[in-house]
Amino acid sequence: MFEGLAEKLQNTLKKLRGKGKVTEADVAEAMREVRMALLAADVNLKVVKDFVARVKERAIGQDVLESLTPGQQVVKVVHDELIQLMGGTTSKLNMSSKPPTVVMLVGLQGAGKTTTVAKLGLYLRKQGRRPLLVACDVYRPAAVKQLQVLGNQLDLPVFSMGTGVSPVDIARGATEYAVAQGRDVILLDTAGRLHINEELMDELKSIKSTVKPHEIMLVVDAMTGQDAVNVADSFHKQLGLDGVVLTKLDGDARGGAALSVKAVTGCPIKFAGMGEKPDALEPFHPDRLASRILGMGDVLSLIEKAQSTFDAKMAKEMEQKLRKSDFNFEDFLFQVQQMQKMGPLDQLVGMLPGMGKMKALKDVQFDEKEIKHVEAIILSMTPEERQNPQILKDSRKRRIAKGSGTSVQQVNNLIKTYEQTRKMFKQFADMRGKGPGKGPGG
Ligand code: GDP
Ligand code: MG
Repeated sequence: MFEGLAEKLQNTLKKLRGKGKVTEADVAEAMREVRMALLAADVNLKVVKDFVARVKERAIGQDVLESLTPGQQVVKVVHDELIQLMGGTTSKLNMSSKPPTVVMLVGLQGAGKTTTVAKLGLYLRKQGRRPLLVACDVYRPAAVKQLQVLGNQLDLPVFSMGTGVSPVDIARGATEYAVAQGRDVILLDTAGRLHINEELMDELKSIKSTVKPHEIMLVVDAMTGQDAVNVADSFHKQLGLDGVVLTKLDGDARGGAALSVKAVTGCPIKFAGMGEKPDALEPFHPDRLASRILGMGDVLSLIEKAQSTFDAKMAKEMEQKLRKSDFNFEDFLFQVQQMQKMGPLDQLVGMLPGMGKMKALKDVQFDEKEIKHVEAIILSMTPEERQNPQILKDSRKRRIAKGSGTSVQQVNNLIKTYEQTRKMFKQFADMRGKGPGKGPGG
């Protein structure tokens, strides 16, 4: 899905990610590339312009450029904005508090309405609902048959009155039938046309005014790119939509529709069709799709975790300490405690520019029991010892071991780990001090 777009964006952002320093020029260059990638993916021109402007504004803000991991931060801004572009959160179907809920699916011919009605039926049944599929496409006998076959396959009831009845009457009849049969969601499969025309819109409007659907969802084919967006815009203006189902995202759609529909129409994409099979329907998750496009998986949640625990100012202070090489046991204890909050250290440190290759990190991890020992040992030191670790000779170590209920060997191990950590952070600080262009990975 969206291979071309994903590859281009990932390449662009990779250049930024590892940088210890990011300049305004770096951001501008990256945004030029992002812009081209989005346009090539058939994203709406205005949407692209607004998107790039927002990212630029946020990325050039001093928060990012002066942060510990500026490249990563830019990536995060792009990710955040992609999510916003697609509507932020996952939008759910409107459900009526007084069943049956009426869901009306509309769209052009071949978009995937009938297939989606069946998929939604299956999806809703899995949620504990009792859906009824309704054949309102009276122009082609094959359309009614298609829905009946799907209903049969899935063991879902299909309401139909053949092709000689108006769709409005069928929809009304289906509502009565659903009440009598205790069906709590009605899924109306309406007829499409090759193009939007008055006849189609009039028919849909009269169904709408008769049965008053709780949810009108437009089904559009993601492969048609900006056409899908234009179709969505017209339908929304003429009929009023509550949501969009984007089908055929399993194919080689470029991304234009997924990234533009919400921004252009204001209508959220609620579901994504991921194949022809009835179970190939997924709620549309803007966050997951953004992560997928940027190829970041869990990295982002780690950045977020790190941000919430690792206060930027503290980090800066730490860096200054490291520059002066006065990283002592108190700082070490603080670090260890931070790491506990943030989770697996090797993963986390991989996010810091230039830190990815440091093998020694595996040794700087402690489990819950060990951390108690670490704390006990450090707290058994005198303030002077904590400030000047080099004075820790054998007699002092014996006293500390005794005071903390540990062994001299444990004290020695901790000192070794402390030394490694100090060295590692020192290296990190040195690298960060080199300035633009010469930074790690940059
Ligand atoms: P309708 O005219 O809007 O009712 O469209 P149909 O439901 O009949 O679907 C038209 C074609 O698109 C059928 O061959 C479906 O199998 C196919 N289709 C529908 N949704 C998807 C999807 O999400 N992925 C793929 N690959 N094909 C789909
Ligand atoms: Mg159909």
